[in-house]
Amino acid sequence: MDKRDKFRGCLIGGAVGDALGYAVEFCSEREIFAKYGESGISEYELSGGKVIISDDTQMTMFTATALLDGVTRGKMRGIMSGWEEYIALEYGGWYLTQTEPFPVDRKKNYAKYSWIMNLPQLFERRAPGNTCLSALASGMHGTLEKPINDSKGCGGVMRVAPIGLYFANGNHERTTRLEIDLIGAKSAAITHGHELGFIPAAALVHIIGLLAGNDNISVLDALADSVVTMRKIFRASQDLERFHKLMEKAADLAEGSDNDLEAIHKLGEGWVAEETLAIAVYCAIKYQNDFEKAIRAAVNHNGDSDSTGAVCGNILGAKLGLSNIPQKYKDNLEFYDVLTILADDLLDDCQMSEYGDYYDEAWDAKYIKKTYKFKTEYQTV
Ligand SMILES: [Mg+2]
Repeated sequence: MDKRDKFRGCLIGGAVGDALGYAVEFCSEREIFAKYGESGISEYELSGGKVIISDDTQMTMFTATALLDGVTRGKMRGIMSGWEEYIALEYGGWYLTQTEPFPVDRKKNYAKYSWIMNLPQLFERRAPGNTCLSALASGMHGTLEKPINDSKGCGGVMRVAPIGLYFANGNHERTTRLEIDLIGAKSAAITHGHELGFIPAAALVHIIGLLAGNDNISVLDALADSVVTMRKIFRASQDLERFHKLMEKAADLAEGSDNDLEAIHKLGEGWVAEETLAIAVYCAIKYQNDFEKAIRAAVNHNGDSDSTGAVCGNILGAKLGLSNIPQKYKDNLEFYDVLTILADDLLDDCQMSEYGDYYDEAWDAKYIKKTYKFKTEYQTV
């Protein structure tokens, strides 16, 4: 399969699950089935003619631009601190979009500014996670060694898919999979300090990397490989056993005879990161060739529907590609075009360098000058 199809499928698939789930994020099962019938929500709810995404997709977009700003800075100026440093800075940019009016001063905030902050509709608040907001408000950022709090909310895992994608673009043979997974963990630990706040993020990065980089691997095999790797990386973790057992349970349930709701109830509600990943992989394994069925199972439950939907969409989008996401889920989706640009940039990577002649005007405007203004269908200013 065309890698571009997988890269686009991963980011747009995540946004699909996020948007479908956001409509029912705070609804009980009783409310969902009373409103949408016995199969639950399956079509988008339009809000003012558009299908809106939530904080999960917003933060995913900031993870992507952080990687792209980071690689560009490294190639043009030879300065490259840890990837998570760039990611922490740009989560500070996301924080500005949630707390300041549009537009914020680009020059004053250059380090944390990315071109997507030129999009006014990214400044809308879509039920942002309190843990992310309060951790970023402190101006500090958490690390694996110095946890910022004891949270294992799903805000760390729901935003890291671009890391798995970017390192599957073919340019990073010298970076080991362990190192890549650790970037996922460190990125989650910026705001979520509990081991189970960041181990699932590392596992998701691992799964996405395998699915985006290979055509012939199943979601089940990618999950199993991620668990083996987590055991190597987080050898000393007190919580690894719970993580391992929950992933095994998700895989067993996907091949068992419970219906989706019974199975999901056995895995949790998805407000905490290990349950989010468990519900997402359960749905993605069970329906690994049917994007719509997987997403519908991932969002129609009592729990954190937009995050379980987003992570499931990232996983199956990376496996099946954009071409296997039904058209009805692409129509009217907020940021569809922007997500396509980010997916393509993660794949194509920075081709300019300090000593090379190659010049890409659009890349310069996005990742160096940060002045790129992309008019989306929903431009409001
Ligand atoms: Mg959300």
